[in-house]
Amino acid sequence: MGLTTKMLDLHISLNKTSVNKLLAIFPHPDDESFCTAGLFQLAQKNDIKTTLICLTKGERGTNSLGVGNLKKIRTKELELAAEVLGIDELLNWDFPDLNLKDTKKIWSEKLKRKIDKLNPDIIVTFDHSGITGHPDHIVVSTEVLHILKEMKKPPSLLWRIPDEQEKAFFRENSSLIFASKPTHILKYGFSETLNKIKAIYTHASQMKSFRFKIQILEWFLFDHKELYCKVDLNKKYTHKFVLKKQRLII
Ligand SMILES: [Zn+2]
Repeated sequence: MGLTTKMLDLHISLNKTSVNKLLAIFPHPDDESFCTAGLFQLAQKNDIKTTLICLTKGERGTNSLGVGNLKKIRTKELELAAEVLGIDELLNWDFPDLNLKDTKKIWSEKLKRKIDKLNPDIIVTFDHSGITGHPDHIVVSTEVLHILKEMKKPPSLLWRIPDEQEKAFFRENSSLIFASKPTHILKYGFSETLNKIKAIYTHASQMKSFRFKIQILEWFLFDHKELYCKVDLNKKYTHKFVLKKQRLII
């Protein structure tokens, strides 16, 4: 693609700089495993303390188990995934799933206070496409950027950027705008890949079908990388809410 040659190695960048704390912010249980499983694991290897804020309990997701309280089920699944990925601190809040856009004012204040208190060196979240186009993903991305722009001493902001495979898959479902370009590539080994798949599979309630589980293997088993963009806080990034709720996938 030519793009790869221009990207910096994120693992090397993390080693070079004095990064002590990494904060990942995502809206749903399972976003962390699908998107940044490699990053959490390599952060742990580099003795970087990791915190995950998950804004909802994912109660509007599917329940392929067919029984039980989805909030409780997904809370437990997220705890297990956090263990698999070696996440040091897990904060699973309870803001309304599929409704973060309309409740932004409420959760944004709490998020801002937590960022101030934690004082991380790096924050990671979705890019403005949300990869899948989920409105919760997009609003978390735009709001985190907004919060950081207001800070006197903001941490570095990394966006998880979709790769060509992810773009192709999710573009089929919508007219998503993939505006930001990757600046960093994170490569990891086979053991991290197996752990990533294990973490995704802990979200058993979201495994809609056997076919979907196979799809996950096809996506990740031989693709040992995650793409990131280091955000320029002075730059203007575009976004658009495109997906209708019933068409959401992840
Ligand atoms: Zn999600």
